[in-house]
Amino acid sequence: MSSFDKIRTRIAPSPTGFLHLGTARTALYSWAYARHHGGEFVLRIEDTDVARSTQDSVDQIIEAMNWLGLHYDEGPIYQMQRLERYQAVLEQLIAAGRAYRCYATPEELTAMREAQKARGEKTLYDRRWRPEPGKVLPAPPEGVKPVIRFANPIDGDVSWDDLVKGPIKIKNREIDDLIIARADGVPTYNFAVVVDDWDMKISHVFRGDEHVNNTPWQINIFNALGAPLPRFGHLPIILGDDGLKLSKRRGAVSVMDYAANGYLPEAMLNYLARLGWSHGDDELFSAEQMVGWFDGTHLSKSPAQWDPAKLDWVNAHYVKQIDEARLAALVVEQLAGKGVAVSVEQVQPKVGLFKDRCATVAALAEWLVMYFAPVSPAAEDLAVHVTDAVRPAISTLAEKLSALTDWNKSSIQQALKETLTASGLKMPQLAVPVRVAVCGRAQTPSLDAVLELFDKKKVLERLQGL
Ligand code: GLU
Repeated sequence: MSSFDKIRTRIAPSPTGFLHLGTARTALYSWAYARHHGGEFVLRIEDTDVARSTQDSVDQIIEAMNWLGLHYDEGPIYQMQRLERYQAVLEQLIAAGRAYRCYATPEELTAMREAQKARGEKTLYDRRWRPEPGKVLPAPPEGVKPVIRFANPIDGDVSWDDLVKGPIKIKNREIDDLIIARADGVPTYNFAVVVDDWDMKISHVFRGDEHVNNTPWQINIFNALGAPLPRFGHLPIILGDDGLKLSKRRGAVSVMDYAANGYLPEAMLNYLARLGWSHGDDELFSAEQMVGWFDGTHLSKSPAQWDPAKLDWVNAHYVKQIDEARLAALVVEQLAGKGVAVSVEQVQPKVGLFKDRCATVAALAEWLVMYFAPVSPAAEDLAVHVTDAVRPAISTLAEKLSALTDWNKSSIQQALKETLTASGLKMPQLAVPVRVAVCGRAQTPSLDAVLELFDKKKVLERLQGL
């Protein structure tokens, strides 16, 4: 890294909504790359679209970054607080003849493009306001506020070695003199991003594929400013399971929606990491491991496919693995969302029996709610399983359970066995109706283990209420 003292990366979201999964993946790669090299990671807020940017979105983005554990070393830096700096750099470019004011009206530009189309040409700005040797420019029209355009090199190529896509080369002839400041003086994305990346000494820019067409302009602007060029890496898009770009219309795309639905941050990180990067065959790894491995190689060129089943598989792994007190606290939050108020102490002893069968904390809460709120067995389950043939056995079981002095798995098992012997029923004929009555569902883990975690009183009430 000759031009940079340190590896510095950034994530530069526009605060026009929540943190999107694609942006979260870019943030993760940027963060991991900086951490891998002992560098720094910056959060920049690209809020020049004033009409659509909100502080609420900034807060949501920061909340999601914190939830994922993507801690930044600097920021948030707001572009709208840097307008003076952009202004100064614009003036510098104008003075150097690398930018100029353009007074063309929207109508004139439309007419220009129509004429180009009619001639079968590519629609590019025709440089009518660009000062050039021997060219006489018209007098600036009254009452038209000019935009500022970058004087893009006319000849030659612009090229870079993309960290993801490899070498890319574009002819300058293919790109035109970009508007770098609007008539109201606010800089456009391609200009502000360059000034920022320059000022913030960003050595590596990871971003979505959709920006790859902007990079030639940005490189030319860097060069015009005499600023060192960062390395660029354009990450392929993420496709939904229907093969189309992942979007709100096709399921949850907000990181915090996944938090709300019972996904764990380490699972999201792990899953996002694999969407476009690999380390051998490793599928399950920690953020620390990723940091150790993430050196900017093994980035995939092809679009990644969002796979909810795989995310569930990864999440299930972490649900099993994390500390049960933390898991219980997350269940408490999920239950609170269902209007069921309980404490971690109440929940924690119960998570162990169910966590292995749950992909998410929400699914775990779905199981545990039976311990804390009334159950409502489906009428169909009652009709099918709680038949007159088994009612006497259920009463017998209730009596035997009621008589137990020690309420534990083996005493409950004993009561079940004695009831089977007395009634001549087989275990499923008794166990299923008991499950329906007590748990509100026909299938559960081992019945003695499930019942042990209930208050005896509650079990008896539910059996007697049949
Ligand atoms: N604000 C841009 C975006 O959210 C940032 C692009 C970049 O990283 O340069 O897409």
